[in-house]
Amino acid sequence: MIDDTKYAYYCPKCHLGSFKTMGEHFCSRCGKPLLDLKMRREDYEALAENEKNLKIREAEKQAREVRKETIRKMIVTTTPAVEGHIVKEYLGPVFGEVSEGISVFREFNMGFTGMTGGRSASFEECVINARNDALNEMKQRALDLGANAVIGVKVDYESFGQYLLVNASGTAVVLE
Ligand SMILES: [Zn+2]
Repeated sequence: MIDDTKYAYYCPKCHLGSFKTMGEHFCSRCGKPLLDLKMRREDYEALAENEKNLKIREAEKQAREVRKETIRKMIVTTTPAVEGHIVKEYLGPVFGEVSEGISVFREFNMGFTGMTGGRSASFEECVINARNDALNEMKQRALDLGANAVIGVKVDYESFGQYLLVNASGTAVVLE
């Protein structure tokens, strides 16, 4: 017998709920994967409005955590190949750009005379943070394309007037 029990799903982008049979579903409007509220239709419909909202918020929070963990585990490498893995699919280039105001460092530097350990450490910290942000943005975009790794990663630094521009780029791939 076919199980046609309907479950509650929700699109976090369109803020629309729908009822579907159990499985993976995508929003008919925006194409994003739907959140599984893990509830049968009749159980969901029996909830009060605020309880429904709470269920949605819980599912959104859980999805964010899963995404964060997936991004943390994503393979990111400067090499064009990953040892022991076969590239199953090339999904195209991905980028992450972050600009950091250099004036921030200048203001900080005014309290110091000459080069001190504190000064360079602070500048370095800002560069490291900007680089991490750029890499993170690149990984988010790779994940949105359905990648589980980014290969051939390169990070470029440029300064435009008062700004430091950090650009991370790579090729989003699906590794087997
Ligand atoms: Zn949608």
